[in-house]
Amino acid sequence: MYARFGTRVSLVEAQSHLLPLEDEDVSKELERAFRRQGIAMHLGARVESVKNTETGVRVGLLDAAGNVTTLDSNKLLVAIGRTTLLDNIGLSAANIATSRGRVDVDAAMRTSVPGVYAVGDIVASPALAHVAEMEGIVAADHIAGKDPDSVTYKAIPSCTYGMPEVAGPGWRRVDGVHKYGRGGILGLATTLAKRYQSPPTSIIVDSSNPRGMP
Ligand SMILES: Cc1cc2nc3c(=O)[nH]c(=O)nc-3n(C[C@H](O)[C@H](O)[C@H](O)COP(=O)(O)OP(=O)(O)OC[C@H]3O[C@@H](n4cnc5c(N)ncnc54)[C@H](O)[C@@H]3O)c2cc1C
Repeated sequence: MYARFGTRVSLVEAQSHLLPLEDEDVSKELERAFRRQGIAMHLGARVESVKNTETGVRVGLLDAAGNVTTLDSNKLLVAIGRTTLLDNIGLSAANIATSRGRVDVDAAMRTSVPGVYAVGDIVASPALAHVAEMEGIVAADHIAGKDPDSVTYKAIPSCTYGMPEVAGPGWRRVDGVHKYGRGGILGLATTLAKRYQSPPTSIIVDSSNPRGMP
């Protein structure tokens, strides 16, 4: 976004490609698009130091080959993820079980304490707004005495906002290869989305599943 407003942007990513959780061809397409927008990318580079300077900040980078370089810029924007903060909200006093920093819940979003439900970022599911909303619906239906279906986590759309955007429901190609092997995967590179941009698009289909999506 900043690059499109005319700011000179340098992007530093410790992994060898942007969006390391996406399939590599998707990441490479995004990198091509960013390059066309004039965004400088330092892939496989780790930030080793940050120092204030008279004009902004100097960032020390260590690249994959072990070379040390520096980047001078006016501003530094750090975006390396987020985590839950469960301390001091009374969970242990209420005997609510947690595992690895998240509240334990069952398929109806019930915690270990009867009558107490948990949904959203506080439980061990993808920390996304639409996931929290769906979990809330399941919990509310259960509280209301209905028998709701549990959340179908493998059908959750992922979305990375930007220009271009990267999105998809269900499995990535790497998940399909993991389960069926390379020969079991057919990538389709044309979809409706092609009308708007030129994205590589994969549709992963489980032929034994009548609903199509693994
Ligand atoms: C920078 C950023 C960008 C994001 N972008 C996206 C995106 O593009 N798409 C997407 O799907 N999701 C995105 N998310 C994630 C999304 O915002 C969360 O997954 C979603 O808000 C989770 O809902 P929630 O109800 O679990 O938590 P929240 O929305 O955080 O609601 C929790 C509420 O509890 C309140 N609270 C906290 N502690 C207490 C307490 N002790 N007592 C009472 N109240 C308390 C908080 O003030 C807050 O209002 C983004 C998150 C961040 C931080």
